[in-house]
Amino acid sequence: MKLSAPVSRLPMVGHIYVNRLEKLGISTIEDLLYHVPHRYQDFRIVSDISRAQIGEVVTIQGIVLSMKNIYTKYGKVIQKAEVQDKTGQIQVIWFNQRYLVRSVREGERYSFSGKVDWFDRKKSLISPDFENIQNSNTTIHTGRLVPVYPETRGVSSKWIRGRVFFALTEVQPYLEEFLPIEIIKENSFIDLPNALHIVHFPDNSEDAEKSKKRLAFNELLFYQLRSLYRKSDWKKIPAVFQLNINEKIINEFIKTLPFTLTKSQLRSIKEISNDLEKEYPMNRLLEGDVGSGKTVVAAAGAFASFVNGYQTVVMAPTQILAQQHFDTLNQIFDKFKVRVSLITSAGVKADLGKTDIFVGTHALIHKKVQFDKVALVVIDEQHRFGVEQRAHLIQKTGKSASRRKKAPHVLTMTATPIPRTVALTVYGDLDLSTLNELPKGRKPVTTWIVPPHKREGGYNWIREQIKKEGVQVFIICPLIEESQVETMKQVKSATTEFERLKDIFPDLKLGLLHGKQSLSLKNEVLESFRSGKTHILVATPVVEVGIDVPNATIMIIEAAERFGLAQLHQLRGRIGRGERKSYCLLFTNVRSNTVLTRLNALTKSMSGFELAELDLQMRGPGEMYGIKQHGFPELKVASWSDTELIKYAREVAQEALDKPEKFPKLIKIIESKSIVPN
Ligand code: ADP
Ligand code: MG
Repeated sequence: MKLSAPVSRLPMVGHIYVNRLEKLGISTIEDLLYHVPHRYQDFRIVSDISRAQIGEVVTIQGIVLSMKNIYTKYGKVIQKAEVQDKTGQIQVIWFNQRYLVRSVREGERYSFSGKVDWFDRKKSLISPDFENIQNSNTTIHTGRLVPVYPETRGVSSKWIRGRVFFALTEVQPYLEEFLPIEIIKENSFIDLPNALHIVHFPDNSEDAEKSKKRLAFNELLFYQLRSLYRKSDWKKIPAVFQLNINEKIINEFIKTLPFTLTKSQLRSIKEISNDLEKEYPMNRLLEGDVGSGKTVVAAAGAFASFVNGYQTVVMAPTQILAQQHFDTLNQIFDKFKVRVSLITSAGVKADLGKTDIFVGTHALIHKKVQFDKVALVVIDEQHRFGVEQRAHLIQKTGKSASRRKKAPHVLTMTATPIPRTVALTVYGDLDLSTLNELPKGRKPVTTWIVPPHKREGGYNWIREQIKKEGVQVFIICPLIEESQVETMKQVKSATTEFERLKDIFPDLKLGLLHGKQSLSLKNEVLESFRSGKTHILVATPVVEVGIDVPNATIMIIEAAERFGLAQLHQLRGRIGRGERKSYCLLFTNVRSNTVLTRLNALTKSMSGFELAELDLQMRGPGEMYGIKQHGFPELKVASWSDTELIKYAREVAQEALDKPEKFPKLIKIIESKSIVPN
C-alpha cells in the first residue's frame, strides 16, 4: 500500500469512517500518518501483579480467569475481571461498560494499563486500557508510550492507533527517504521511514520529539515548495504592459503630497517601481498596520501607470471603502489630470470613456467595463477576497491574445500584521513590502482593561467626555462567530446591544451600523456620525468603519476576550487619527490570567507586528490568530512559532528549485504530487 492510497483501503474503514476522518483532514494514508499524536500516555512501567503499588499507573499482563457484569444495589453495573500472572492475582474493574464482557475473553492473555487503587477493600486495577496479547507480544494501547490523538466525534484515539499501526506495516516497504543524506546528517534528522513510525510509537519522548520535528520539516518544506513553484510560474508569463519609470516625475508627485512620506513608504514605492519596470508582472504584497499609509503607496504605483498612458484598477472589499478610496485618490491627484471612476453594484460614477483609475468593489469583475489598458491592479484588504475573485480580476485585466497569456502587475494590500516568518510562508508566492512604522505625529491610544465592576464608571466617564469635550465614541459589539461575512446572529446581537445602550444613554444620540443594512442607510448612519449629530456609533466587529472620523477619540470593545490581539489592534486603529488624545476601553467579564495577559499586551504596545509576534508566542502552536480567521491553511504537524524550522525549510525549498539535480527523489515526489502547476 502506498502513502497516496485512500484511507478506505484500510480494513474497518468504510464510508462512515471515511466521512468522519475527513473532518480531521484525513483522506489518504499519508494524511493519517501525518495525524500525529498531541501527547503520549506513559504506560511504560510493566509490573508483576504482586508488586503493583496503590496509586501507581502500571501495566500488568496475565491470563483472564473470569470476566463478568456485576449489578450493584444502586442499579449500576460494574465489570469485574480476575487476572493472574506468575506472581499473583488482581481484580480489574470498569464501570458501566456492559459490552466489555464480549471483548475481554476468559482464558486468554491480556495487557492492562491503568491506575492501581482500592476497590471493595481489595487492591484493584481501575478502568484500565487493555488489549489482547494471546497471539502476539506487541502492544500498541498498553505497556509503552501510547499515542493520544486529536479526536473527532466517533473517532477515538484507540481506533486511530489501531489503523495507524496497520497502515504503518502496510506502507513500510514503500517508504523512502527523499532528502539528500547531507541534509539528514547536518540536522541530525531522523530519516523518514523511521520518523513516521516513531512519532506514533516511540520508545521515549526524546525520539518522539525528534520524529515530530522531522515531519514538521516535511510539512513546511512542501508548503514552501508550493509557493516557490507558483512564484516561478508567475514569472514565466509576460506583463501586459511594461512601464518606464521616471524617478523625477514620481518624486514630483510625492512633493505634492500634504505630508512627508515615512522611510518605509518610500522604500515600498521604490520596490514597486522596480517591479513595474520588469518584463514579467509584479506580484507584491504591501503589508502595513492600519493607518500606516498604504493608500498613498498604491497611488504612487497608479501614478506611474498613468504617466505611461495606462490604467489602474483598485478593488476594495466594501462599497464604503471603495467610496473612501475614490475620494482619497481624487484628493491625492487633485493637481494632476488623473481621472478616477467609481464602480460598485450601486452604480458608476464619472465618465467611463476616459478613466485612468477605476475604483470599485468586486462589481468591477462583473460590470461591462473595457479594461484593455490596465497595467496595474491593486487589491485592498486582500484577505476579504476569495482566490477566484482575485483570479477573475487578473484574468479580466490580462491578455490572452496571440496564444500567450499575459498578466497585469498586481499589488495586494493587507493590514493583517503577521510575523515575517509566517508571512514568508503563507504569502510565499508573493514579494513582500512592509510598512513597519506609522506616520509621524500619531499619538498612541491609551488602552485600558475594564472589569465588570468598573463598567458603570466607564459609561459615566464616556458620558462626561462626550458632554464636556464634545468627542464621539465607537462601541464595538461582542463577536458572536468568527466569520468574515456578517451573520444574522451577529446582526441580532448588535441590535439588542444597541437597544440596551439606548437605555443607558437616554440623554445622547446613538447610531447603529451593521453589514446587513442597505448602502443608503449605512451612508446615512455614517454621515450623521461624521457630522457630529450622532454621539455614539454602535457597530458590529465585521462592519467596515474605516472612515476617518478624527473627532471619534474613544472606542469601547465589548467582550474583548473573544477577539484575537491582531483584530483588537485593527479595531483600535480606527481611533487616534486626530489631534486629540484617544482612549480604547476593553470591556471583559473574564478574569483568567491568560486572557488578562493577552489583553494587557494591548495596553503596552501600539505596533501590530509586535503584537502579532506576542500573540504567536502566547497562543503557541497551531493557534495563531489571523491564521484561522483569514483562512490560511492550518499546519498539521509544524507550528507557526517554529521560526528556525520555517526559515530552514524555505532555504531547502529554494535550493531544490535552484539545484534540482541535488534532490532527485524530492523532485520525483513534487512531480507526482502535481505541486508544479500547469
Ligand atoms: P492604511 O494603511 O490603513 O490604508 P491610509 O492609507 O488610509 O492607511 O492612511 C491613513 C491616513 O494617514 C490617511 O489619512 C493618510 O492621508 C495619512 N497618511 C498617509 N501617509 C502619511 C504620512 N507619511 N504622514 C502623515 N499622514 C499620512
Ligand atoms: Mg487602507
